Amino acid sequence: MPRFLSNLPVVLTVATVVGLALAVSGNWFLDGQSGSLVFLAGALLAYMAGGVPAGWRALRALWREHILDIDLLMIVAAIAAAAVGALLEGAILLTLFSLSTTLEERAMGRAKRAIEALMALRPETALRRTPDGEVEEVPATALRINDRVILRPGARVPADGTVVSGRGSLDESTITGESMPVRKEPGQPLFEATVNLDGVLEARVTKTLEQSTVARMIALVTEAQAAKAPSERFSAWFGQRYTIAVLVGSVAALGVFLWLGNSWEIALYRAATMLVAASPCAVVISVPAAILSALSAAARGGVLFKGGAALENLAGIKVFAFDKTGTLTTGRATVTGVVALEGNESDFLSTLGSLEAHSEHHIADALRREVAQRGIPVRDVRNVKALPSRGVVGEDDAGPLWAGNRGMAEAMGASIDREALETLHSTAETVVYLGRGDRLLGAVSVADKLRETSAGALAALRRSGVETILMMTGDRRSVALRIGAELGLRDHEIHAEMLPEDKVRLVAEAAARQKVAFVGDGVNDAAALARSDVGIAMGAAGSEVALQAADVALLSEDMGRLAAAHRLSQRAAWIIRQNLTFAIGAMLLLVTGAAFFDLPLPLAVLGHEGGTVLVVLNGLRLLNDPIRDVSRPDLKTSGSRLDAAQRITPLNA
Ligand code: ADP
Ligand code: MG
Repeated sequence: MPRFLSNLPVVLTVATVVGLALAVSGNWFLDGQSGSLVFLAGALLAYMAGGVPAGWRALRALWREHILDIDLLMIVAAIAAAAVGALLEGAILLTLFSLSTTLEERAMGRAKRAIEALMALRPETALRRTPDGEVEEVPATALRINDRVILRPGARVPADGTVVSGRGSLDESTITGESMPVRKEPGQPLFEATVNLDGVLEARVTKTLEQSTVARMIALVTEAQAAKAPSERFSAWFGQRYTIAVLVGSVAALGVFLWLGNSWEIALYRAATMLVAASPCAVVISVPAAILSALSAAARGGVLFKGGAALENLAGIKVFAFDKTGTLTTGRATVTGVVALEGNESDFLSTLGSLEAHSEHHIADALRREVAQRGIPVRDVRNVKALPSRGVVGEDDAGPLWAGNRGMAEAMGASIDREALETLHSTAETVVYLGRGDRLLGAVSVADKLRETSAGALAALRRSGVETILMMTGDRRSVALRIGAELGLRDHEIHAEMLPEDKVRLVAEAAARQKVAFVGDGVNDAAALARSDVGIAMGAAGSEVALQAADVALLSEDMGRLAAAHRLSQRAAWIIRQNLTFAIGAMLLLVTGAAFFDLPLPLAVLGHEGGTVLVVLNGLRLLNDPIRDVSRPDLKTSGSRLDAAQRITPLNA
């Protein structure tokens, strides 16, 4: 939109204010003919500048969406005022209406822009390494998977990728909302649109632009605008029915006032006052103002809601169920013990690494890293298939292979009761077995760490009224109990050795009684995410399937944001209740005044528009609600961080 057009509402609003000022001074401070001329000119200006845009919007709503909107009510009231010679009152009406509409639009625009600003950070060009080692500048859209890109200090990352050489710190606040720079070294992931603060890095592109984390954020936010919250739908529905009722009611009121013996002028004037008093502007705007602000504040903190409905549902959650691996724990596991039952350790690890080469599971990552670190070669394994919450199966030249937990070993008929494995079994760590049919080849133990923020987040959730916290994992019971104890969970809240369908069943059981949220990251969590009232996926590190099944994505690694988002949703629900109560109360008061106490039109207008602006401002308070690590309250999460990122311009040479 050209600049003058986007400023047009402001210009017109200023014009109505000038018009009103002229009309007032012509009416009160000037005498005679010049006075009435100034009055008329001023009133005309206010009517044109205020009325034409409102009339235009009213006609457009009628034409395009077949709805009667509030603009129409205001126009009708202003015309009625003019018809009975109350031009000044009409001018006041249109001026205040124009003022509050512009204010409202600006305020709501602020909430929307906070999200759009994130999108603007996707860089347009990239420095790509050519096959002969040169560096060329190409449009970011030309990047393909496995391309090598060079990141200079200050440059924004052009695509999701993995560092292959160099070290540096990155500002990932655009994605995760985390304002502290994150150190990156070879092997670690990079996200499109984050900023390389220092160091020179070379990265391998791992995702196309359409699948990048930022692209998913954009998709989520766009979807979010379509999915309206129940209370939002209510206020829109109410607004429409109610607008018609107000029009009909005002005509009826006109009849009653006439029947009571009022003159035609007075009856019309009072009916117009009634119309303004009863208009539901504040009711209609009160919910979206709060929801949009909250969604936008959450997005800046790295918590993406797929819509107002998710936000509203989260506020009422009483049971939080968590997946363990990759959700409460970091998912960056390390191998702590290896026992090869046949042949030497290297051969055993080589076979295991080969089989795990294609799995997306965190455990597979850990095994691959270990194998690579020891410099052990891997070979080709065919027909690899993942069995969620159990392990993987495949085939090499010597025949079929499997790797997985005890359930997998049992299903294959392999006995794990071996003396050599006792030390592994006695640890409270995850044990992965490798076998060929019923022949057990060996096992490794893998340890994963709790996220530093998990325990604090669970405590914060309990403080804000969550009654039950459950942990569900496909891992061994001993591991689950140890992790659960570190989190302060009671034994009956810990559920181990679960298959995906067990998680769904447990979520469904809890959901029959109370509202349940499920937080997970893996392929094996997708069904439980979909079944819960609010599904919450670990966004940046989690699997695509989980993200799609979820209603909320946590882009930050910081679980404290989840607790903060929960509190934000509760505050949003509270502000929505405040707004609706206030808006409906103010309306009743004004209508009573107009019906029984001869309330003057200008006062009705003031009360009506003032109320509207108040509910918008009240909703906007949520925009400044910080979603941040509860354990580090000194860090400011605000738009300024974004500005800082924008100030850094890429070095394109
Ligand atoms: P969680 O529910 O805690 O996220 P999962 O259900 O994903 O855990 O996994 C449960 C168990 O299944 C793991 O602890 C591991 O023993 C086994 N497992 C799953 N995937 C693999 C794999 N790719 N390789 C080896 N074992 C696996
Ligand atoms: Mg998991």
